Amino acid sequence: MLLSILLSKYLGRISGKPRGSNGEEATSRETPVRTLAPTQDHLQSGIVIGSILTAVGITAVAAGYQSMAPTGQWYGRTFTGKNGPANSLALTYDDGPNDPHTLRLLEVLAKEDVKATFFLVGRYVKQRPDIVREIAQAGHAIGNHSFSHPNLIFCSARQTRLELQQCQDAIADAIGEAPKLFRPPFGGRRPSTLRIARSLGLTPIMWNAMGWDWNAPPATAIARKLNKQLVSIAPMAEDYYGEKIRERKMHSAVILLHDGGHIEIGADRSQTVMATEGCIPYWKAAGYELKAMPEMLTGV
Ligand SMILES: [Zn+2]
Repeated sequence: MLLSILLSKYLGRISGKPRGSNGEEATSRETPVRTLAPTQDHLQSGIVIGSILTAVGITAVAAGYQSMAPTGQWYGRTFTGKNGPANSLALTYDDGPNDPHTLRLLEVLAKEDVKATFFLVGRYVKQRPDIVREIAQAGHAIGNHSFSHPNLIFCSARQTRLELQQCQDAIADAIGEAPKLFRPPFGGRRPSTLRIARSLGLTPIMWNAMGWDWNAPPATAIARKLNKQLVSIAPMAEDYYGEKIRERKMHSAVILLHDGGHIEIGADRSQTVMATEGCIPYWKAAGYELKAMPEMLTGV
C-alpha cells in the first residue's frame, strides 16, 4: 500500500494535463492549480500499479509454493494419489533404508499382507544394500529419492542429473534393477527436475496425505493426522486407531511416511512402524485396498 501511495505521488508530479470535474480537459478559464495532492486519476493509476505489483507478489509466492506443494502441478505433471483407482491407498516410505526400522516395517507389512513403496536415499543404499534386497525380495516397490537428499530446487541441471543417476546406480548395484519411480526430496522440484527424472525413465510420485512423522511424534498422533486426511468428517471412536472411516473417505490416496531420516542413517522410526501397524486393519475395514505404486498407477 505504501508503495502504491508513493507511486501515485510520483505520478502526480509527472502526469499530463489536469482535468475538469466532468473528465474533459480543463479550459483556460478554469485555471488549473497544480498541487502535490493526487487527483482521482493519479490515485487510480497508483492503485492499478499497486494491484499489479501485489499480483506479481502473489504469483511469486504461489510459484514458490508450487515448487514444494505435494499436489501442485504448475511445474509438470506428477502423480499425487488423487486420481488413483477408487478406494485405494498407497503407503510410501521415504529416507530409508534404515536399520532397524525398515526391517521392522517389512515384518508389519508381511503380517498384514500389504505391499508398499520405498523411496530410498542412494548413499544409504550403498551403506545397507542388504536391507534394500530384503525390501525387493518381499515384493515392495522401490523408488529413487536422490543420492544425498538435497532440495533439488537449488541444484543445477547437472547436479540434479548426478543425484538421480547415482541413486539409480546404487539401487541397481543392490538389486540388479534400476527403479522407475522418483520422489524429490522435500517434494522440491522445478520443471527441469521433472524433465531430468523423466529422461532417466522415472515417474514422479508425490502424495496427498501425510503422517507428519519426520520429527517422530507418537504413533497415536501420526495415526490421527492420517485418518483426518483420509476422511472429511471423522467421528471419533474410543480407540485412537478406531476413528471411523467407513463413510466420506477419500477416493484414493498416496500416503507419505518415513522409515528413515534424511540427516543420517539410524533415525528412530519406531512410532511410524507402530502407526502403520495400528492403522492398516482399520483402513482395510473401511474398504480401502492397499497397493504398491505400480498397481496404484494402473489405468491413470
Ligand atoms: Zn526425504
